[in-house]
Amino acid sequence: MTVAKVIVDVPAKQTDRPFDYLIPEELEEVIQPGMRVIVPFGPRKVQGFVESLEETSSFKSLKKIIEPMDLVPVLNKELLSLADWLSHSTLCYKISAFQAMLPPALKAKYERKVKRVMGKEQDMAEGVAALFRNMEEVVWEEALKNVSLSALQKEVKKGTIEVSYEVQSRGQKKKVKHIYPLVKREDLTDYEESLNKNAKKQKELLVFFSEHPEPIEQKQLLTKLKISTAAIKGLVEKGLLGEIDKEVYRDPYQEREFERTYALPLTDDQAKVVAPIHQAVKEERHEVFLLYGVTGSGKTEVYLQSIEKVLAKGEEAIVLVPEIALTPQMVNRFKGRFGELVAVLHSGLSVGEKYDEWRKIQRNEVKVVVGARSAIFAPFTNLGIIIIDEEHEMTYKQEENPRYHAKEVAIERGKKHGCSIILGSATPSLESFARAQKGVYTLLSLPNRMNNQSLPNVEIIDMREELRTGNRSMFSEALLDKLKDRLEKKEQTVLFLNKRGHSSFVMCRDCGYVVKCPNCDISLTYHRFQNQMKCHYCGYETYTPTTCPECSSEHIRYFGTGTQKVEEELAKILPEARVIRMDVDTTSRKGAHEKLLQKFQDGEADILLGTQMIAKGLDFPRITLVGVLSADTMLHLPDFRSSEKTFQLLTQVSGRAGRHKLQGEVIFQTYTPEHYSIELASEQDYDRFYETEMMIRRQHAYPPYYFLTMITISHEELMKVVGVSEKITQIVRNRLSPQTVILGPVASPIARIKNKYRYQCLIKYKQEPNLEEVLKSILDHYQTEISSNGLQISIDVNPFILM
Ligand code: ADP
Ligand code: ZN
Ligand code: ZN
Repeated sequence: MTVAKVIVDVPAKQTDRPFDYLIPEELEEVIQPGMRVIVPFGPRKVQGFVESLEETSSFKSLKKIIEPMDLVPVLNKELLSLADWLSHSTLCYKISAFQAMLPPALKAKYERKVKRVMGKEQDMAEGVAALFRNMEEVVWEEALKNVSLSALQKEVKKGTIEVSYEVQSRGQKKKVKHIYPLVKREDLTDYEESLNKNAKKQKELLVFFSEHPEPIEQKQLLTKLKISTAAIKGLVEKGLLGEIDKEVYRDPYQEREFERTYALPLTDDQAKVVAPIHQAVKEERHEVFLLYGVTGSGKTEVYLQSIEKVLAKGEEAIVLVPEIALTPQMVNRFKGRFGELVAVLHSGLSVGEKYDEWRKIQRNEVKVVVGARSAIFAPFTNLGIIIIDEEHEMTYKQEENPRYHAKEVAIERGKKHGCSIILGSATPSLESFARAQKGVYTLLSLPNRMNNQSLPNVEIIDMREELRTGNRSMFSEALLDKLKDRLEKKEQTVLFLNKRGHSSFVMCRDCGYVVKCPNCDISLTYHRFQNQMKCHYCGYETYTPTTCPECSSEHIRYFGTGTQKVEEELAKILPEARVIRMDVDTTSRKGAHEKLLQKFQDGEADILLGTQMIAKGLDFPRITLVGVLSADTMLHLPDFRSSEKTFQLLTQVSGRAGRHKLQGEVIFQTYTPEHYSIELASEQDYDRFYETEMMIRRQHAYPPYYFLTMITISHEELMKVVGVSEKITQIVRNRLSPQTVILGPVASPIARIKNKYRYQCLIKYKQEPNLEEVLKSILDHYQTEISSNGLQISIDVNPFILM
């Protein structure tokens, strides 16, 4: 008897353990660890993951597995055990850990289909071949009416069929007629030789297919060989070629041509950092490198040449970049070097496209994946290196369950694979730099820009001073002068507006009333276009008042600056300037982001105006001016990392200027010019910033001196929240060590979201071996209330957002 240990898809405390199921005899050969199965669970049928197989079970009467969902495991051994680690380190259910590792197409209700692989017909068993006839695919259930699961599985192993999961189509999928050879190559050539000379077109076709056995779009074939459909028809009738309506996947990068690039001769600095990386790769040693290099210092070339070494050993590479840096420019650099071996995973892809890219990885068709956070779970089996570019970025932390940090996952996988990690940044997170200082990570530096191009000169403008001299506009004199200068010289400018934590809100000038969301405790954002106010947490919308609801004054108006407002202002003061605006509104449509950047690169605009999303990755030679409209807006967020984030952002933005031959200039406009993060960012002095900030962190017992864990409690009733928070804080106080600092409970900086009050408790600790156990017991204690009366307790180990 074989027993499968199954984690069922019922995310609850009681079900967060493996259940034993009997594998029915006919499935004994089929079921493997890492597959998803359908099992009876109480009165229901649920999905589950097979964790392992056992010979026996300590339970007497076992229920049977109903059927497998997959014919090959979707999770390999390493990922199965990684899920263990993930569920412990982030306190999530095992099932959530599994789900987090898979592409969305494998998570929900998708139709399963059995597809045949073109060109493998000869190897297919007859019974299976009979399923298809002229069809490319059959629905899973249909297939199983005629053949057994194990028969299908055999074919999967031979590579003649595959199982695919498709989103039940809302729209009709695009199908296009393809032509492919039905017979072996020799038969094609034999027939070609037997044809008489006049059948020139048919001969050409046969020659073509003897060289290209894969299916090709009929349209393409017609233009390629300059023939008519008649020639094809003839051969189809003779049974030499087949026609098929094949679904075309839209690979977003397929249509573009990638200019092939080759390894550049390294500079001395680069050679120095590449050497130890190559050494570690050669020895298959797990080592974490912190590659600290200013913007434009050639880090990407270091990544590329490290990967080259890994590929030469037959191993694989994962490259993580922040979502917003996944620009075509970045992708091109990897595709240009490694071509077809690269898969790309980012949120702009449709569910189907993501699944296609994931499948390429799973089938070993690619060796490199470039992607955002979740690409860290790419199912490679022979990892040789993991690279995390811009390692300090917040996007590497997932802000929902499981609350993992991609860097920690990378290190965990690196240990298992004996593979090195490169963390790259011009402004490393304090945590990483401190680890490098202590020798936990190996520090590698690239202190100079390529071609010794000097860093741009930064000027700080005190906006209070501007106001005093009567300039009420959002542009200082200096910025305006330089903007005009660039327009004359036909050089390009980037204008950066920091939107995070800073939006246009509506305030009464007479009584100070601010329009807030009735559900959440934050001010509503003014959207000029619809003349509406919106809550960015819960989506609440309302019209903009014309008089103050408090004092009836008519002097109620919006404050703060959005990108739209800047754009309008620009149109007034520099009507001749051509402006491209990039923000969530102008880039929400798929592909819009790329198009706008392309336009800017092609010189179709003088000014690129945007939010965070333009801070990174841009590398255009004609940008010689960068203006930051308000450098200090992020400084005032209730977050101990606000200085660090400000420093990082300003340094990043400045790095966009003068990356090539032309010297760059940067202007920071600010109301707090004396703040060290602004001053030191203007000098691009990371080392001094690090020292200053570390002192402050030490004083206030923050990371990297201490670890943090935050518990947030929320519920519709304030009294309930207060009561539970106090109780939890008490438990934590009693059970953790006396050296550990416990703050709270206090109302969260955002005290209400979606009508739920929020309280938090912050735990600061150096060493706390009992932490996981204590936190688990808290969750257990409140389990019934969590599932029945809307109480929410979220636990964030090493939080990035403290609101
Ligand atoms: P970073 O990733 O540190 O911002 P990049 O890798 O983008 O820096 O390098 C900046 C510029 O220098 C790019 O245009 C890149 O092609 C070029 N570059 C990098 N390494 C070399 C090299 N060894 N020789 C010549 N040019 C290089
Ligand atoms: Zn008022
Ligand atoms: Zn709201």
